Amino acid sequence: MTHKVAVIGAGLAGLSCASYLRRSGCFVEVFEQERTLGGRVATLRNGLVAYDTGAQYLTARSDKFRSYINELVASGYAARWDAKMSSGETKGVQLHTWYVGTPGMSSIVRPLAESVRVHTGKRVHTLTQTDKGWTVWFEDQTNVGPFSAVAVAIPAPEARLLVGRIEGMVETLSRVRMLPTWAVMVRLDERLLPDQDVYSDMSEVLRWIARNNSKPGRGGSGETIVIHASPAWSRETEDADPQSVAEELWAEVRRQLNLPDVAPKQMAAHLWRYGLVDQSLGESFIFSTHYKLGICGDWCLGRLAEHAYESGQGLGKAIAGSLT
Ligand SMILES: Cc1cc2nc3c(=O)[nH]c(=O)nc-3n(C[C@H](O)[C@H](O)[C@H](O)COP(=O)(O)OP(=O)(O)OC[C@H]3O[C@@H](n4cnc5c(N)ncnc54)[C@H](O)[C@@H]3O)c2cc1C
Repeated sequence: MTHKVAVIGAGLAGLSCASYLRRSGCFVEVFEQERTLGGRVATLRNGLVAYDTGAQYLTARSDKFRSYINELVASGYAARWDAKMSSGETKGVQLHTWYVGTPGMSSIVRPLAESVRVHTGKRVHTLTQTDKGWTVWFEDQTNVGPFSAVAVAIPAPEARLLVGRIEGMVETLSRVRMLPTWAVMVRLDERLLPDQDVYSDMSEVLRWIARNNSKPGRGGSGETIVIHASPAWSRETEDADPQSVAEELWAEVRRQLNLPDVAPKQMAAHLWRYGLVDQSLGESFIFSTHYKLGICGDWCLGRLAEHAYESGQGLGKAIAGSLT
């Protein structure tokens, strides 16, 4: 019998889990609240211009993730990014080779989504279980099911809302802390940043500045820049108006890099409310064999894309094993 499994969230963890389950012979349906796939591995379009607003590059410390990246590179979904930075930063920041999705970061999840059914624009509101299995409820009161098992692949604070009724899970999830991060996208007609392509930890406000179009496959004229605020500053300003956040961060970039007062052609801010993991769980995933419900995400193991991938694979294996 083919088991049906529901996966909530089409970020790297959810799609990695879904693809593992599919390869194990399950029928998988993925439900994603946004219109696009990838979650925080994001390529956000502002008009005709695309920016990587979340994860900036991938590194591979484990053999499993390295072999996935090699597959991506071979099939044209990713390429190496040799970003120019000062030699001090090379020592401090770039211990591993950097890879980026091409033509945008979100390409890195595409092969994982190929063999599974993904439903976008579907925010999951509630999960209920009967003796027939799990039912997935959406915000508009519609539902689908039954499913033999469910994988919840969303940030821990949001997962708490979905699995709150299952004993012990809320306490476990409460150990995880995630911090917000503002991302600002800036487009200029002319090249303006000095020689380096990336700058990190420039001030208490700025965590990251990158010349987005220095990444392979981006092209276009002028300059596109992605700025990330520090988690501390982002937390203080998380309820602020995005336009004033964008203006403030751009002014801080100009101050720190001594740039002339040039008006951007385009400037917008996006808040990642659960952007970066501050305190992880320290376990690869959470799974209840009794309820046939599991939770995965970067926050299980760390704060990087590769942690999300590994957590998803681990949960996929546990679910597949429990259904045989
Ligand atoms: C600003 C920033 C910079 C970063 N830089 C790097 C970097 O350079 N290198 C690196 O390796 N990592 C970086 N990261 C971290 C990396 O992006 C994450 O580790 C990884 O993308 C997490 O994947 P995930 O699948 O666990 O979660 P997510 O990507 O958050 O995926 C969760 C998905 O679930 C969906 N969802 C949530 N709730 C629901 C619901 N109720 N119903 C349906 N769908 C739902 C969301 O829309 C999302 O698509 C960065 C992150 C941020 C925010």
